[in-house]
Amino acid sequence: MITEQNAPRAGTSLARRIVFTALDTVDMVDTEVPSTPGPQDVVVETSHVGICGSDIAALAGRDPWFTPPLTTGHEVTGRVGSIGRDVTGLKPGDPVLLNPLVTCGACERCQRGTVNQCEAAAVRGYRIPGAAATRIAVSSGELHRLPPSLDLASATLAEPLAAAWRAATRWDELDRVAVIGAGSIGLLVLAALRHRGAGDVVVVEPDATKRDLALARGAGSAIPPGEPPTAARFTAVFDCVSSEHTLRWASAATLGGGAVVAVGVPDGPRAVELPRMQRFEIALLGSGLYTPSDVDTAIALIAEGVVDVRPLISGLYPLNRAAEAYQNARDPQTVKTLIEMIGPE
Ligand SMILES: [Zn+2]
Ligand SMILES: [Zn+2]
Repeated sequence: MITEQNAPRAGTSLARRIVFTALDTVDMVDTEVPSTPGPQDVVVETSHVGICGSDIAALAGRDPWFTPPLTTGHEVTGRVGSIGRDVTGLKPGDPVLLNPLVTCGACERCQRGTVNQCEAAAVRGYRIPGAAATRIAVSSGELHRLPPSLDLASATLAEPLAAAWRAATRWDELDRVAVIGAGSIGLLVLAALRHRGAGDVVVVEPDATKRDLALARGAGSAIPPGEPPTAARFTAVFDCVSSEHTLRWASAATLGGGAVVAVGVPDGPRAVELPRMQRFEIALLGSGLYTPSDVDTAIALIAEGVVDVRPLISGLYPLNRAAEAYQNARDPQTVKTLIEMIGPE
């Protein structure tokens, strides 16, 4: 309730944001957002925020760099509210997806277009405040316009799909591939690999429900994790976990001349099977975040129905139950939990 004490200052309005105030503590904090955005800025009325494994890691104190207090939120969709006077290409009411990767724009990597390799980059929700708020003011360049036919809940998954698409495009020899981990990223990597024409995709995942989801989404087989295989058989392994065990499994399972693609975010250094990788010319490739063109591809894949993300949405919570939403997201059977920031569309 807005009282005289907490009424917003002139020229601003109040927005409610989700803040990790302490370890394992999710709170709501009211914050002022300018009513009239800066010349290049846009005020977005947020509709959905997705919860990601890296959010849960930060909330639980398992992220080596980012610990609470943090304003969270990097998977965010909404509608344009008001626009600054110099903004072109967007108008009030347009559905948009936030690109949470804020880059310097000036370095050699930014200049050549691989902005995800910018070492000065920051991701909203980590090095800079996140966008899990009912209303946000951002630069127009941080927004991707969405096709009007696309529902905003599904569109929120274009952010993780962009990362998955990036990973799937890191290697071209995709005759026989494995994906380790069938959480949201693993399942989206599976979808991206299938779209890229990957032949037989084997998914490695401990949870039986997620293995079934992988099979339903085109995996040739889905197996529980075990000891590294004695014979290599994959031209590429996409490791969406990046633990020491999974990387060892991946390098043992990759054929000479193939690649291990590290997609999962490791919480520290990892030992790899370098003797095997050296002798048989196995590449170890990183895949981190995405470029704006990966985001556009992800939006198109969802909008055109190539990737159906709806089966991945395991929970949709209203904002006033956000704490419960983060609790749900920690359940190993959960794939993607969304928070609805406004009433039903
Ligand atoms: Zn994410
Ligand atoms: Zn840069």
